[in-house]
Amino acid sequence: MLKLPAQVTEFFPYNSVRPHQDEFVTTVYNAVRERRSVLIEGSNGLGKTISSLSACIPVAIEKNLKILYVSRTHRQHDRVIEELKAIYNKHHVAGVSIRGRSEMCLNVFAARGAFDSKSLMEVCELLKAKSRCPYYVNVDERTYDYLQLAQQIATRPYMASEILRICKKKEVCPYELVKSALADAKVLALSYLYVFEPSIRTAFLKGLETELQKVILIVDEAHNLPETAIDISSSTLSLFVMRQAELEAIRFGNKDVENFAHFFRAEVEKLTEHINREEIISPDSIIDIIQRQGNVSRPKEFFDSMHNAGAAIKKSLLAEGKNPRSYVFAMSEFLLKLNETLDDNAYINVASRYFNKERNKTAKLEIVALDPAKLTEPVFSSTYANVIMSGTLQPLEAFARITKLPQNTVRCVVPSPFPKEHVFAAVCLGLTTAMEKRTPAMYQTMVERINEVAENTPTNTGIFAASFQVLNSLIAEGLENKLVKPLFHERQGMSSKANEKMVQDFKACGGKGGAVFLGVQGGRTSEGVDFPGNQMNSVIVVGIPYAEPTPRVKAQIDYYEKRFPGLGREYGYVLPAMKKASQAAGRPIRTLDDRGAIVFMDCRFAAPYCRNFLPSWITNSMKTVVDKKGDLGREINNFFQVQS
Ligand code: SF4
Repeated sequence: MLKLPAQVTEFFPYNSVRPHQDEFVTTVYNAVRERRSVLIEGSNGLGKTISSLSACIPVAIEKNLKILYVSRTHRQHDRVIEELKAIYNKHHVAGVSIRGRSEMCLNVFAARGAFDSKSLMEVCELLKAKSRCPYYVNVDERTYDYLQLAQQIATRPYMASEILRICKKKEVCPYELVKSALADAKVLALSYLYVFEPSIRTAFLKGLETELQKVILIVDEAHNLPETAIDISSSTLSLFVMRQAELEAIRFGNKDVENFAHFFRAEVEKLTEHINREEIISPDSIIDIIQRQGNVSRPKEFFDSMHNAGAAIKKSLLAEGKNPRSYVFAMSEFLLKLNETLDDNAYINVASRYFNKERNKTAKLEIVALDPAKLTEPVFSSTYANVIMSGTLQPLEAFARITKLPQNTVRCVVPSPFPKEHVFAAVCLGLTTAMEKRTPAMYQTMVERINEVAENTPTNTGIFAASFQVLNSLIAEGLENKLVKPLFHERQGMSSKANEKMVQDFKACGGKGGAVFLGVQGGRTSEGVDFPGNQMNSVIVVGIPYAEPTPRVKAQIDYYEKRFPGLGREYGYVLPAMKKASQAAGRPIRTLDDRGAIVFMDCRFAAPYCRNFLPSWITNSMKTVVDKKGDLGREINNFFQVQS
């Protein structure tokens, strides 16, 4: 007998619940039924996806709402649909996972030519209008076959990858087919952008024929949200784009824009000449340069005219059957945003010099957003209810305040379902990557202790360093030679394809003697890849990944200090670092059967202040180990011997 609300039991597809899963489901169901938001931490292995779906679907059906389930990766979107399929066996609920047009388009000419989603949309609309896309023609003809397919997709759960496969076979546009299913789908799994990027959201909701008030929003992996919101609201203008805008203006015979792009690029070169890495600059000084030196008396009017010129260039390119990319358009968008955010202290302007891919020194201007709530608050305050969940959200109050969740949001930390004896967690005293202690001797001791962990771990060990500097220092102090097991390590600038291949090779060693993986915290492997079972038995978190105190980091701290007096450093500096450490620490333990050792190789993690930021399923049984040769290895050995 399931201990779940009766309405939820109708949809929950499994015969039993995991430890504490009923608490998770009931908390979400009660909050959403009362039209309240809920901020809830639950560890991996709890079944957050099925729990949140089963709790929200009865309310969505009763109140005629849609569920938008946002998360980061395609894999996570497909996982939502997998669970919806399990629900479908009990109760017919339709849903789709959605990918952008660039990933759904079958037309090679359109998909290869466009350099961003906007230009692909324009190419696509043109091809459709001229009946030059055969995949759209097959949609437009509305054959019996097509209508049957559309009906099928609209009434059952389908993953984007399944729709793509079917459409390739039938030569029908998958993007259009998904669009036709949206009105009937109860659950949509999609990326953050569809909900939090204002212009994409407006267009998407229009296509969905609904509004935020009729949406239950589920945000998965929500610890990523503040950073994602900041990324979405920030913009960049490089010297390269300015040069291309000048060339484009020459080609299209627009002397005013040509002169301006030439002048502005020269000014930015001058401005950044003496900058070492980055500096905050006043946006007024940029507008002043444009007005005085550039003789542009009304900058806003000029930027608008540049924007119109860019739009006209895109149109001409389209008419010529070319990719409608316009650098004039891109440059004007940046300048309009600069003008719009002039008096807004939630943005700063940064000028920086850096090396491009060709290793040449170049420069750029950036508008850097400091306040995630600018994007999150309008969403959270408009939806029917929000379910904000992750395995690493503590302290909940900080997340609620940073993203401006509604005042009456329910807060809950659900205990971990893992048996205590499955997890070994320890902090190594005497070791640290604190700046003043980064000596060769410190790294040599770390290499010794890492080797003790790897030697006593049955198969694979992961190491996540605070930065590439720490990673490289471990290698410089002989990590590879010291280890008996093979070492795989991330390299700065490594392509995602090469990284993926290396991770697969490392995982494969889990079945044959084991290996060691060395990456960085906050990197693509420490946050985006799971290592269940023997793919990673032990993980070592080396150092706290505090950001370098760059001008933008200091500005973020100052901004939060003004918004939350006394908490600026905590919210702008400590919290992001501890989230990265928590994410890395959780890599080996993903399912209830997993057993793993988590070693924090930095004594600062032992301080009560730092422990507050780590998930309680780790800190509950966390011990400290003094730095004595052999002690750590013995602890790890005891843990795995008891398990075997
Ligand atoms: S109609 Fe579909 S296949 Fe054709 S260009 Fe547009 S997105 Fe691509």
